[in-house]
Amino acid sequence: AEMPADPDLTNEIRQVKNTVFSYVDPTKPSAPKLIHASEEVAAMVGISKDEIQSEAFLNVFSGNEILPETRPFAMCYAGHQFGNWAGQLGDGRAINFTEVEHDNAFFMLQLKGAGKTPYSRTADGLAVLRSSIREYLCAEAMHYLGVPTTRSLSLMLSGDQVLRDVLYNGNPAYEKGAIVCRVAPSFIRFGSFEMLSARNELRNLKNLVEFTIQNYYPEIKGDPKEQYIQFFKAVADKTREMILHWQRVGFVHGVMNTDNMSIHGITIDYGPYGWLENYDPDWTPNTTDNQNKRYRFGNQPQVAQWNLYQLANALYPLINEAEPLEKILESFINDFEENYKNMFLSKLGIFTSSEIDGKIIQGIEEILQLSETDMTIFFRNLSQIKKDDSVEMAFEKIEYSFYKPEEIKENTLSAWQKWFSVYLKRLQSETLSDEERAAKMNQVNPKYVLRNYMAQLSIDAADKGDYSIIEELFELLKKPYDEQPESEKWFAKRPDWARTKVGCSM
Ligand code: AMP
Ligand code: MG
Ligand code: MG
Repeated sequence: AEMPADPDLTNEIRQVKNTVFSYVDPTKPSAPKLIHASEEVAAMVGISKDEIQSEAFLNVFSGNEILPETRPFAMCYAGHQFGNWAGQLGDGRAINFTEVEHDNAFFMLQLKGAGKTPYSRTADGLAVLRSSIREYLCAEAMHYLGVPTTRSLSLMLSGDQVLRDVLYNGNPAYEKGAIVCRVAPSFIRFGSFEMLSARNELRNLKNLVEFTIQNYYPEIKGDPKEQYIQFFKAVADKTREMILHWQRVGFVHGVMNTDNMSIHGITIDYGPYGWLENYDPDWTPNTTDNQNKRYRFGNQPQVAQWNLYQLANALYPLINEAEPLEKILESFINDFEENYKNMFLSKLGIFTSSEIDGKIIQGIEEILQLSETDMTIFFRNLSQIKKDDSVEMAFEKIEYSFYKPEEIKENTLSAWQKWFSVYLKRLQSETLSDEERAAKMNQVNPKYVLRNYMAQLSIDAADKGDYSIIEELFELLKKPYDEQPESEKWFAKRPDWARTKVGCSM
């Protein structure tokens, strides 16, 4: 569920002006307990395996203790939510508690669910275990899939009970509270700039842009105006690359509000996200977005462009020239389409080029929707096809991806046969051997993704104090492109009970 977004009704007393952040201490949890930590992310910021098990780690990463000589803070930002200006939002339940320099890189460490901040409005600043598990696991899964993302360092129980869903089904429900530590170069969002621009705080806007360029885009040089334009271009490029990865692996973010768009082009804020199971560009995991489906899979590139347009508007007062920004926005979709075509061809194992490639892509995108077909399984199994296979042999290799095999007859079957005959003929002009092609395809078509039912199984067990599925999925998803015969059970279609997928953002 979304937070109320009417700033005039809900934010009045908490408008925090002339600032980009507020100091705030995490709330002390009553009985923190470590559920899981990523040894790799810990090592990335200079924390050893042994240290993870220490009392100090438990205290610092649950918000129980503030590190000496640090001052935790929450950031002030605004945003467009579902296409509408929502005014000031800010970190309502996230607190940046320290920045770490390690091996010549800087990392901001943030606790999510560590209590109220000046931006919490009427909400509690807390996070429940189920959404924390979803965020913790998915961010790491995305990283290992090669998708730019925030990282997850730790997942803790707070020991406190959190009240949820009162407004939505009428029943107050207490759930276990949890705290995730996530890590990124910074948590600056498109909305950080929109905030200052909307308030006409141009001095702060300029300061924040220059701070961001100096710290995170130091390669950008030149006179100030030129730098701001280059900065916008760099954010647009990184955002395009991120969305391309989302489309490749079938990830649907679900809440692409401008306050959830990182200026680093990394995936941030895992709420009601989901993975395409049956290939359906109209699908969104966000149950509050059912009407317009603004945040549906197939619309993500357009939404990214729309969000960049808001960022351009925010930067405009510093540039006072629309044309260079417009040009960048225009080329965003063109460049994306070109990238998309190449990405999609690589998923199909086509690495040379031919005039019919566009038709092959269009054809498969249509057929995949004729009858529910699992995206991950289809593409993964496609690599088993040999150039000299017959249409029947090829078809058999992808049959397991159908949710309703009984539906595949007559029209659907003949559409498949037609497509395969074109595809198999097309493979004849590929220069790689079958084995080489399969190996390359398996680097872009993951075998294992974090399907909603998998996350749900780990949540149900964790609710009863059993964290073994969290551990199992965490390890499995470290190698999403590898064959893992002992884990073949996770290479499976969504079970029927998980058909209506319910994401959760709180
Ligand atoms: P999201 O859609 O998760 O990005 O959240 C939108 C806004 O609501 C952000 O400003 C969040 O900080 C805030 N928010 C979400 N959940 C809570 C919560 N439990 N307590 C306080 N603020 C929250
Ligand atoms: Mg957010
Ligand atoms: Mg969120």
